[in-house]
Amino acid sequence: MSARVLVVDDILPNVKLLEAKLTSEYYEVVTATSGQEALEKIENQNMDIVLLDVMMPGMDGFEVCSRIKNNAKTSHIPVVMVTALTDTEDKVRGLEVGADDFLSKPINDTALMARVRSLVRLKMALDEWRLRENAANQFGVVSETGNVMSEPVEAARILVIEDKEFDKDKITKTLSGDLNIVFSVDSGVKGIEMLSSQDFDIIMVSMNLKDEDGLRLCSHLRSNERSRSLPIVLVAEEEDMPRVAQGLEMGAHDYILRPLDKNELMARIRTQIRRKRFQDRLRSTYEISLSMALTDSLTGLYNRRYLEVHLEKLIQQNERSNKAMGVIMMDIDHFKAVNDTHGHGAGDEVLKVFSHRIKDSLRSFDLVARLGGEEFIAILPDVSEKRAHMVAERLRRSIADVPIPCSAEGGALNITTSIGGAIIKDGKHTISEIFDRVDKCLYEAKNAGRNCTVFEGIGKLNPADYQEAERPIFDKDEYEQVLPPDTKQA
Ligand code: GH3
Ligand code: MG
Ligand code: MG
Repeated sequence: MSARVLVVDDILPNVKLLEAKLTSEYYEVVTATSGQEALEKIENQNMDIVLLDVMMPGMDGFEVCSRIKNNAKTSHIPVVMVTALTDTEDKVRGLEVGADDFLSKPINDTALMARVRSLVRLKMALDEWRLRENAANQFGVVSETGNVMSEPVEAARILVIEDKEFDKDKITKTLSGDLNIVFSVDSGVKGIEMLSSQDFDIIMVSMNLKDEDGLRLCSHLRSNERSRSLPIVLVAEEEDMPRVAQGLEMGAHDYILRPLDKNELMARIRTQIRRKRFQDRLRSTYEISLSMALTDSLTGLYNRRYLEVHLEKLIQQNERSNKAMGVIMMDIDHFKAVNDTHGHGAGDEVLKVFSHRIKDSLRSFDLVARLGGEEFIAILPDVSEKRAHMVAERLRRSIADVPIPCSAEGGALNITTSIGGAIIKDGKHTISEIFDRVDKCLYEAKNAGRNCTVFEGIGKLNPADYQEAERPIFDKDEYEQVLPPDTKQA
């Protein structure tokens, strides 16, 4: 894995030693000999990870780390503190200012390399989400995401898989601070069972279970749908280091060695919770912006972009199944006059109510989109010709029969819509050809006096033939059952 590592140490031989080790593993190494120099390089060059000495004249490592982690531009970059200090107090202090790990000199090579690889991998996953979020930002729909350190650490749900009574109690008691909810089980089987019915934010896995191999359990958790993206923290003995390294390789996020130190445990768990929440937030802003890019903000209906992608799929599906698909295009009559007479605001209100009525008159798997302006389209997969006619007439009446409430004088307006429709079946079709066909019918409907439906090959429908019977035109449930689930609108 190629990545750029910044090594920070005020003592040159230390820098050289780390540089040599990392270069031999094909990392690109950048060095700095003071906190100030480090901060400048981090700000201006893209670093994938920072190895940071603690004791430095001037600005010490704690301060440097804290500045990296509190800067939104750099807070996602992993920091490993490397130090001769062995006090847990220092370790905890480092973790509390946001360090992702704290390694003691002399450095164990296996531990260092496993750690660097694992953190670089996590960062790359985060980079991917940051990139998408950045793209989402360009749609102008998301606000500043902030930094990892500003994420709350409280009230997480933690699953502990540990069979050593003493440590299990210690972990449960310690982590129950911060308003966390801790569930502990004494086997992987029970853990997996619990995961299937409950949501968790983080999982702790003992590498010393009596009857199970912790590594296999990790690998299972990594492939399980419910736990795939959850942070895993390993609990191990000092002599398990080679297996811990393997665990990190498999995707575990962190580890803690026995005898467990309460403060270190708490600090490591908090780091993982913050990271997870940060990543979750990046993902959800991305998803929200995605949905905003595909729907029309005024009416909430799908937009043209989405329609075209989805229609392409429906066309292919239709070709395979030999079924007929109804396409209905609607255009509000004399809409310009609504704006001119009652104002653009009233026009917008009409568009909203219009959209709701159309949507309410269709089945859940019919697709309805706003093509632009006051033009809409409905796609009815798997529909008979007669039923498509009925639906079109029903849509027309849903608008014409009841005045549309809005802020115009009198509180409501009589609105009508013209409709063009076609049945698409047999053979190959393209979107533009389909649009042309229904557009022609719509044009005819306008010419035929508006507030009417024209179907391809049929002409203007006679409203009297389509008076709604007592029984609904279609039994929603019946139709939802016969259609394959992938035709349902998301
Ligand atoms: P026709 O019966 O022939 O369809 O006449 P029309 O007035 O409906 O058609 P035209 O295409 O001349 O006018 C459409 C109008 O729709 C013009 C435009 O200002 C208005 N419009 C388009 N988008 C919006 C919108 O988002 N909000 C509002 N209030 N008006 C819109
Ligand atoms: Mg119009
Ligand atoms: Mg128009």
